Amino acid sequence: PRLYRESGLGSTELEIAISTVPEPNAPQQVFFGSLETFSKKPVETSVDMVYGRWTLAARPKQGWGQNSGIGIFEFYASLLALCVVAPIVWVGFLTKSRQQTIEKLRLHKKKLVRAQQRLEYLSLHDALTGLPNRRFVDRMISQPPRPAPGDCLILIHIDLDRFKEINDTKGHAGGDTVLQATAFRLADLAGPNDVAARIGGDEFIFASWSTNPEPKANALAQQIVDTLEQTLFIDGAECLVGASVGVAWETERAGDRDLSQLLLNADLALYEAKKTGRGRAAIFTEELRSAAIHSKELADEFNHALDRDELVAFFQPQFNANTLDIVGVETLARWDHPRKGLLAPDKFLDVAERLGRTGDMDRLILQKALFELTRWDSLGMQIPRVSVNMSARRLAQPNLLAELSELPLASGRLCFELLETISFDELQPVLNEIIPAVKELGIEIEIDDFGTGHASIVSLLRFEPRRLKIDREIIKPIIASPSQRRLVTSIIEIGRSQNIDIVAEGVETMEHAKILKDLGCHILQGYALARPMTSEQLIEFCRIKDKGATAAGR
Ligand code: C2E
Ligand code: CA
Ligand code: CA
Repeated sequence: PRLYRESGLGSTELEIAISTVPEPNAPQQVFFGSLETFSKKPVETSVDMVYGRWTLAARPKQGWGQNSGIGIFEFYASLLALCVVAPIVWVGFLTKSRQQTIEKLRLHKKKLVRAQQRLEYLSLHDALTGLPNRRFVDRMISQPPRPAPGDCLILIHIDLDRFKEINDTKGHAGGDTVLQATAFRLADLAGPNDVAARIGGDEFIFASWSTNPEPKANALAQQIVDTLEQTLFIDGAECLVGASVGVAWETERAGDRDLSQLLLNADLALYEAKKTGRGRAAIFTEELRSAAIHSKELADEFNHALDRDELVAFFQPQFNANTLDIVGVETLARWDHPRKGLLAPDKFLDVAERLGRTGDMDRLILQKALFELTRWDSLGMQIPRVSVNMSARRLAQPNLLAELSELPLASGRLCFELLETISFDELQPVLNEIIPAVKELGIEIEIDDFGTGHASIVSLLRFEPRRLKIDREIIKPIIASPSQRRLVTSIIEIGRSQNIDIVAEGVETMEHAKILKDLGCHILQGYALARPMTSEQLIEFCRIKDKGATAAGR
């Protein structure tokens, strides 16, 4: 009993029973409490004794359910379980979806890399021909993939000769065909380390490597010219394109600097090739570089010249072939260069053309010519007409007609000399509009340098010019050459049939003047009769001429 007491078995709240077996079924097995307790869903525990095992059973005296303690406990336990299980389930769910996201991400990344590679490819290649493009070449030049240590880079800059014509006549589809065929031909020439690239419009680059670049560059350039000269077929029609190429290669000098200079060098060589005729290859030289530097200086100076009014008008009288009276003067541009003195057009026309400023120059010279004409009139001089040279660029200027219509000019006092080499065919649509409008204003049209250009006589005559001026290269040999005289005669015949006067320029001797007069030429211009001169000199020239005539008359 003391053991029971001290163990607290006499609790007033709990009904406790102890048995000698785990699940008693007879009262004698229960030696403390009653057997019933075991059948009332008690809590049980066993106690190991030295001689056996007791089973203790206990339940609240009021029975289960009355005691909220367990219910609360159960509630909290469930809550706790929920708190533990829910995050685990949630984390599981998250882990799974994370796995899926990672998988998706990996896929996206793959696609992204592929798209990026595609973009990178597109940005370095030309869509039309599939060849590498300008960026590719620039990159190649900044990080040259030198195949072997001693290899030098060869760059060949290629420009198609008749691309514009083909684009104009065959349309853009025809132009595209030409570019694709060119790309194909160039790619066909390229060896394993070579690059054929399209760097813009109708311009291509061919890059190659060699330890001995000169012979290889020469051979390649010739091969390229030959290949691109071969006939193409567009819509079954034969088509000749042709190309000019400029060649440069890395030398000791170029090697220790950056290779971008090489592209400029090839460019300069190409410019030279174009200048000396189509279908040619030209090689870069140091002379070309210094010429380019010089022409760059001259170009800068020419821009200033226009702004600072350094251009001067000179005048060369033109004479009636029979009477030798002055019938007009041709205005010729001169540049009064601050250091080099008076320069003739052969020193600056190219520069003006390249700068796109011949139009501005012609406008300026026309102003000066008309200013002087007014002055001569006010001095009572008999200068019936002043001629100015008109570049294609000036003719095509949109404001030309508006400006001309504001001039207070009597009909026939101003004449435009149009170079026969102004590509009449190319400019046909513009000229078809401009020329009749110019004539409408009372300005005469004269075809200059007749017999040297490539325009067909028929297309020239369509404009019904007032005069044809035979080129001085045709006039010069007439003394010695009967065939050249016959040529002049037939030009005069054409003129007569169309009611067009004929002017001969480059009349260098009085013998020329006599022959030309006898052949039926109307107007003569040349050193034999008068050189180009300033307005002041012309005033003096006319005064002396008048005096002579008066004296002769007397
Ligand atoms: P061009 O229109 O054929 O002008 C005639 C050129 O022949 C002038 O050269 C003149 O000085 C030169 N000349 C005159 N008589 C003789 C002669 O008996 N023998 C020889 N050998 N030559 C003679 P210049 O002044 O050097 O002009 C050269 C070219 O420059 C002109 O050729 C013309 O095409 C162009 N030009 C001149 N002024 C202008 C201009 O204001 N605007 C434009 N766009 N071109 C101009
Ligand atoms: Ca002229
Ligand atoms: Ca001329």
